[in-house]
Amino acid sequence: MNIKKLNTIEIKNSIENREIKAQEIAEYYLKRAISLQEKTNAFITLDEENILKQAKDIDNQVEKGFKGKLTGVPIAIKDNICTKGLRTTCASKILSNFVPPYDATVIENLKKEGAIIFGKTNMDEFAMGSSNETSYFGPVKNPWDMERIPGGSSGGSAVAVSAILAPASLGSDTGGSIRQPASLCGVVGMKPTYGRISRYGLIAFGSSLDQIGPFARSIEDCALILEVISKYDPRDSTSINLKTPEYLKNLNEDIRGLKIGVPKEYFIDGVEEDIIKGINDAVEILKKLGAEIREISLPHTKYGIAVYYLIATAEASSNLARYDGVKYGFRAENVKDLKEMYIKTKKEGFGEEVKRRIMLGTFSLASGYYDAYYKKASKVRTLIKNDFVNAFEKVDVILCPTSPTTAFKIGEKTNDPIQMYLSDIFTINVNLAGIPAISVPCGFDKKGLPIGMQIIGNYFEEQVILNASYAYEKAVGGFKFSPFQEE
Ligand code: GLN
Repeated sequence: MNIKKLNTIEIKNSIENREIKAQEIAEYYLKRAISLQEKTNAFITLDEENILKQAKDIDNQVEKGFKGKLTGVPIAIKDNICTKGLRTTCASKILSNFVPPYDATVIENLKKEGAIIFGKTNMDEFAMGSSNETSYFGPVKNPWDMERIPGGSSGGSAVAVSAILAPASLGSDTGGSIRQPASLCGVVGMKPTYGRISRYGLIAFGSSLDQIGPFARSIEDCALILEVISKYDPRDSTSINLKTPEYLKNLNEDIRGLKIGVPKEYFIDGVEEDIIKGINDAVEILKKLGAEIREISLPHTKYGIAVYYLIATAEASSNLARYDGVKYGFRAENVKDLKEMYIKTKKEGFGEEVKRRIMLGTFSLASGYYDAYYKKASKVRTLIKNDFVNAFEKVDVILCPTSPTTAFKIGEKTNDPIQMYLSDIFTINVNLAGIPAISVPCGFDKKGLPIGMQIIGNYFEEQVILNASYAYEKAVGGFKFSPFQEE
């Protein structure tokens, strides 16, 4: 059996039909992940013993007749999602020794369906970044070109799937952190509607923006994992009480009559030519499948970055206040009193980018500045949201590039935060509005680097997005795996 080629459903079925053991699957992926760790740096924690124990337990349960939606499927987890007894660092020195006493709800949901919680993946520190270079544990490398970044902040989760170190993974997306690395690594990545997935146990960055979502090699895998984690959770007051949809069963590639809006504000100077071409080619394919294409306008698009970097940093400055060396995580030594302990802990524990954001956020919330910055940003956020609400009166989904560039070189943008912030120009507004969106691989640029197209949907219309993506995937005959499939 060629384990590498099995998708999540095939893994589950082979294990439940006793053709293979969960242990063999886990051992196979562990071997790959460990042997390629030095090259990719995709993982922060890979606990071999813990993974094999989970696999053994699943095998025992299967003996007793257990059936689940993800029986024995290893899922890599971004290191800002709490895993009981398994170190969760947020790629920060300040949490480098933190072992959560509980599982995030998404982890509980995965375990209930028989999934194996695989390693914890590398990321930008506290999910702040677009390149994975702010990690305390060093940058992650893009499997398509090892001198390039994989995108961020969920770079490790994207690479785990792209380099076939795990069949699928979870990431989190505050301003593009699932979709942008998915695009740069040539895999599928989806940010669900805000409130669709419980944030209980997700270490908070920007609480009104954060959402967990899957990375996968195919739309079917993406649909299945999304279904497993889409459950109402009373422990998260922003979780919405809706029936869990059957995304996989309801996948439908017939998109005749689907109205696709193409926003003119997303095809601007600075977007690489090959990306525009890639998106236009995809539009032609969707047209041939029977979709109706319409040009639309999202007039407040250009304010997205400014609004996001006020709101996300304001929320972060409040969320990160808890890391003071008292309750958990790193504590500075050799201090004379409590105040010095606070100061030294934060000074030594947080990296540059995190400090920059805490300062920005604290400033914009300060009395005297609040009205001019935070309050104003909140008002413009409503205008951005209304752009989408208006657009969805005319179209079913919106199609645009995920990122203005393909993967850039490691170090290329580290000294220019503004350039780095512009990486998310096409993903951020989706978080500000709280709507769902996916990034789907759609060809390559002249350097051979993957291009991603973003399909955005209306609130809770994940199924419509998945169906449009599925139709495209079928039409192009599936997505190409990274060169690491040869390894
Ligand atoms: N790159 C954006 C930022 O740095 C988005 C990050 C994210 O989605 N977590 O804030």
